[in-house]
Amino acid sequence: MSPMRAPVPVRRDDLPSRVTVWEVGARDGLQNEAAVVDTATKVELVDRLTAAGLPVVEATSFVRPDLVPQLADAAEVMAGITRAPGVRYPVLVPNDRGLDAAIAAGATEIAVFASATDSFARRNLGRPMADQMAMFTPVVARARARGLPVRGYVSMCFGDPWEGAVDPGQVIGVCTDLLAAGCTELSLGDTIGVATPGQVRSLVTGLTSAGVPIGSIGVHFHDTYGQALANTLAALGSGVTTVDSSAGGLGGCPFAESATGNLATEDLVWMLDGLGIETGIDLEALVATSTWMAGRLGRPPVSRVVQALGR
Ligand code: MG
Repeated sequence: MSPMRAPVPVRRDDLPSRVTVWEVGARDGLQNEAAVVDTATKVELVDRLTAAGLPVVEATSFVRPDLVPQLADAAEVMAGITRAPGVRYPVLVPNDRGLDAAIAAGATEIAVFASATDSFARRNLGRPMADQMAMFTPVVARARARGLPVRGYVSMCFGDPWEGAVDPGQVIGVCTDLLAAGCTELSLGDTIGVATPGQVRSLVTGLTSAGVPIGSIGVHFHDTYGQALANTLAALGSGVTTVDSSAGGLGGCPFAESATGNLATEDLVWMLDGLGIETGIDLEALVATSTWMAGRLGRPPVSRVVQALGR
């Protein structure tokens, strides 16, 4: 007996036929790793994810090195990776200085990180939520003027550890502000993993009713409460076609008392393969990559599929 290495594909015609998996392991995942990973390993991770067929590999973040030592080598990572034609390598930038550094490092696509709640804005951005657009607007405008696509991450969309429930109207307001500022797409973050499928469908419907194009909406679920795949399915059923995930489930959740953070890319791909949804991703190559990376980090991957198939 040996484990089944692929699911039985059965199409559902109420779901999209193709989904873009937005791989965040090298940025969001490593950012939350306590031990600093060396630059060569980061470069190899990005290159292996590229080789496994990921269409978007978020590569690093141009944050202040004294605040996030793990990402102090952002420029070296960008210089070291081998960019494949057609593959996107966005980088996170917090401000104008980060944008300058990203452009100097050859970034062709950026992301900014907004908050749907005031408590998280004050903690993560050091300013009230009402002031965050004043910080992002010039960065987004400058990036767009250079022709760079800009993704707007929105954290705490479904619940907040300090505030509890989050008003969907407030989330929709932040999203429409980001699009008005020039963001080309959004990523709805369930930063503490508390969302459930009805909530997901309701928020996506609320956004499209407010005029947000469905094609601009990505989802970023955390599996802290075991809801990430159920929420993903709800999002797909609502017409969403971009899903964030992290190879091997890299990255714990920094705001919840749990080792389980980002949805693991392998677990996502297993479900998408089973639904006959095209992703272009080679699951075996991805499992091998996450198994290798877990070895580098010295601990087992949290991905259930990697646990089932890795060795
Ligand atoms: Mg995350």
